[in-house]
Amino acid sequence: MSDDPLILVLDEGTSSTRAILYRLDGAVLGSRALPISQHYPAPGLVEHDAEEIWQATLACGRAMVEQAGGAGGIAAIGITNQRETVVAWDRRTGRPLHRAIVWQDRRTADRCAALREAGHEPWVQARTGLLLDPYFSGTKMAWLAARPDVAAAGEWLALGTVDSWLAWKLTGGTHVSDASNASRTMLLDLDGRDWDDALCDLLAVPRASLPAIVGNTEHIGLTDRRWFGQAIPITAMIGDQQSATVGQGCNAPGQTKLTLGTGAFALTSLGSSRPTDPGRLLGTILTDIGGDRRFALEGSIFVAGSLIKWLRDNLGLLGTAGESEALARSVEDSGGVTLLPALAGLGAPYWRPAATAVFAGLTFASTRAHLVRAALEAITHQCVDLADAFARTGAAWDEIRLDGGMSANNWLAEDLAAMLNLPATRPDDVETTARGAAMLAAVGAGLYTSLDEARAMLPPTRRFDPRPDDQARATRLAAWQAVLKMSEGQKH
Ligand code: ADP
Repeated sequence: MSDDPLILVLDEGTSSTRAILYRLDGAVLGSRALPISQHYPAPGLVEHDAEEIWQATLACGRAMVEQAGGAGGIAAIGITNQRETVVAWDRRTGRPLHRAIVWQDRRTADRCAALREAGHEPWVQARTGLLLDPYFSGTKMAWLAARPDVAAAGEWLALGTVDSWLAWKLTGGTHVSDASNASRTMLLDLDGRDWDDALCDLLAVPRASLPAIVGNTEHIGLTDRRWFGQAIPITAMIGDQQSATVGQGCNAPGQTKLTLGTGAFALTSLGSSRPTDPGRLLGTILTDIGGDRRFALEGSIFVAGSLIKWLRDNLGLLGTAGESEALARSVEDSGGVTLLPALAGLGAPYWRPAATAVFAGLTFASTRAHLVRAALEAITHQCVDLADAFARTGAAWDEIRLDGGMSANNWLAEDLAAMLNLPATRPDDVETTARGAAMLAAVGAGLYTSLDEARAMLPPTRRFDPRPDDQARATRLAAWQAVLKMSEGQKH
């Protein structure tokens, strides 16, 4: 057992949930992960079992409490989570009333299109920083609340994102959500301290079912003794992408992180100025610390690491995801192959939910290595378009801080640096999502007085300097624009 106060982070991601134990100097003392089952009941639908999320999170948390020598050694818990995913449960039983609807789920695409056609998008965007897309929680909550088996819970119905669900289970009945997760529901004004009545009405979400909104470093409650033997204070909650931004040390306006996980998410810190004209990007709450609200501009790419997983599992082109690096290096270029990776529509900055994927430029000379290289290049191409979109809103990148499972791919890190013509850095420990929550939990517990002080927890980084090749860049981007054009008219 360690004498230093330890921080336990529960990081509930899309494909797995994990618990990580940190020391205050940022050292990782242990971690445990469990996979989360993905349910695809029909095209466009993606669900999780909320009970499985809870049980897996609890099991990982318990393993780390044991490693710490008991709950007494843990000063605080921080929670970070896959955002926008919605859970409906009954407050009497604490049991889910339906499978969780995952952020990737497109079931409310028609509802969003109808709201857009009715002219609501500019107003919604001005208030929430978001676009009318099924990605966000609000229309998913409305879909759940309209189901008779969910609505039957009446006043006992609780609706929340995964942070809320875990906080409820851990504390035994506290219904809260943090400002960063709340800013992804489409039910909160970016400056609002509470849910917006007009937005709840527009989307038909029962306000009484929603949690109370808290800051990112608040004392949320104590864990029920049943879970870890002794109560532990929960002192931070934050959505995963915002957490990774904190865990990359992106405090100052303009600092940008790019997480390459299942999807890819670029966030640029805006400081205290609320985003006014995000264009086809998203304005979002980065953190709320003691009422001091910070904002970020975000570009969300829906398909990144999941593309490599698809090449591996559905097409059998790879034995492991890591093999993609050697294959990409084994050829000089993609041999004229270009991939539009729209396996789940296209997110920022295109927002084409009905788009489907295209492999273009195939010939008898195309090999497995060319296809894999084209897939990795496609991630870069989307990031180039994102960088342009950020620059257009006045938030041009001058460096990108990479993280996420896919950032382990050095070829991709070099390709991004070259095509964006920017230096890229990657922390030695790429678990920045959990680290951000650890930093916030330390601040919430009073172990550090500010996020600036908590930077003592940041790890060293490796730098990738840009080696641009203008000719190759122009050829690739022209081919990319051509496949992108093919998706313009696509409809289901
Ligand atoms: P998440 O947190 O979104 O669940 P991770 O950050 O753990 O995901 O990233 C896992 C994803 O990264 C998987 O989809 C996997 O295919 C991809 N991946 C992991 N390692 C590599 C690699 N070396 N090269 C390319 N892709 C990789």
